[in-house]
Amino acid sequence: MSIEIQVLGAGCEVGRSCILLTIKDRRILFDCGAHPGFEDEDRFPAFQKLPSGVLNEIEAILVSHYHFDHVGGLPYLTEILSCPAAVYMTEPTEELSRLLLKDFVATSKGRNQSCPYTESDVEKCLERVKTLQLGDQVTVGTPNDISVATFYAGHAIGGVMFFVQHAGTSVLYSGDYCMSSDGHLGAARVPFGLQPDVFISEGTYCNVLYPEGRFRREEELVDTIVKTVQNDGKVLIPIPALGKTQGICSMISKHLESSALANIPIYITEGFASKANMSHIKHSEWTVTRKLGCWECERRQGGKKRSRFNDACSHELLKNLRPFHRNEHWNLVYQKGPMILFATPGNMSTGVSCDVFKVWSSSPQNLVVMPGFLLTNVVSSRVSSEVLAATDTSAPDIRCRTVNQISHIHSDKRGILRMCRQIQAKGVVLVHGEKQRLTEFKKELGQTLGVPCYAPEIGELLRIDTGELKRSGFGDGRRNNLSELTTKWRSVLSSYERMTKGGSNS
Ligand SMILES: [Zn+2]
Ligand SMILES: [Zn+2]
Repeated sequence: MSIEIQVLGAGCEVGRSCILLTIKDRRILFDCGAHPGFEDEDRFPAFQKLPSGVLNEIEAILVSHYHFDHVGGLPYLTEILSCPAAVYMTEPTEELSRLLLKDFVATSKGRNQSCPYTESDVEKCLERVKTLQLGDQVTVGTPNDISVATFYAGHAIGGVMFFVQHAGTSVLYSGDYCMSSDGHLGAARVPFGLQPDVFISEGTYCNVLYPEGRFRREEELVDTIVKTVQNDGKVLIPIPALGKTQGICSMISKHLESSALANIPIYITEGFASKANMSHIKHSEWTVTRKLGCWECERRQGGKKRSRFNDACSHELLKNLRPFHRNEHWNLVYQKGPMILFATPGNMSTGVSCDVFKVWSSSPQNLVVMPGFLLTNVVSSRVSSEVLAATDTSAPDIRCRTVNQISHIHSDKRGILRMCRQIQAKGVVLVHGEKQRLTEFKKELGQTLGVPCYAPEIGELLRIDTGELKRSGFGDGRRNNLSELTTKWRSVLSSYERMTKGGSNS
């Protein structure tokens, strides 16, 4: 049996994820993202590489999670290119995609940038979404006989991996995934015994090994934040609009009696970020609480079972975040006394995070918790020169302290290998990563697993004969009994839930 995989986006790049899978003339599309770095034709997946008529043959679009590089091209595909396929995603993905896509339309308009679809296109597109639950096993397509199952991906709230099985062959698409928990979301997991023929894996950090001792580094970071506010300093935490705040709040709660910050005002930029925060609180069943229990609550209630995570308490912290509106609250920036502010955008290029940095960075009392990808000296010199150009005074001193955020939201090399070893696929296709990284890792992975590995470029069509290939490891190649596996998997999930509820009642 031969399957075809054509990468229309995220081939040797990060951005506009979109992969067309064809099994015996039946077509499924994984994700339909947009590239945040482009405004030209490279912004959306390379649909022009497909022979005409193929878009009409797609039977289902499976969206793994709400990030822009996975969903940003969806209204373009369904409303502008009129692709008639059914769209599947989980409920949090739908809710946050709606927020994100509408925000994209509005901000494009505000900045006079082109956006090919409108707010009503977003609504029409999302009207056709069929929502999936975690651990669901459904059939899609016409006829309705292609099996699709969802498994937990970590990485983003509502994020799933898709397992697709048809005509005796199967593919697991990872979306973005993380093999370790950030304290807010759990680690990715698929049931033991699930053995896809082909694994399509993201490889963003495939050449990175996360350093050991994360727990200790988190403790040090939280300690620095607490000491800063205890000394009446202010803490600026630049964040992207979605996701990051919740991870950081979990981290703070994990290492802290929540009372330590009881009288410290904590703010979050109002608008998109605060709305997204409410969504995260609403869908708390996707966070680690349900699966691992709450250490803090159990300790308070005298329960015996202990987990490192106290996610329920981080929800208390999240609920207490006050909205920060630039026009109403700007005076707070100059007020004396401690304060913590989560401010967008994460890259501090413009907006509230950048403007607050200009004010707070002059005092050694204050702290900026920099996103890992930003270099302090680069930000400092850019801000210095901007202030200098605007005020024509001498260069301002950047005297605040800075520390780096700890962020593990993609699997590192170790994590990808662990997943590959568990599922023992006959072939691995690497996407969603920088070209050189993927090319080097492809060789290494192929040698380690003893199966063919690929890192296709945009537009490249892979034909993989799954009947000819052997599994890595000791996989017996038996057909996956999906309903048995998902039932087993769901019962593990619900036993975690029962344990959690039992623990808090005791
Ligand atoms: Zn993502
Ligand atoms: Zn991504």
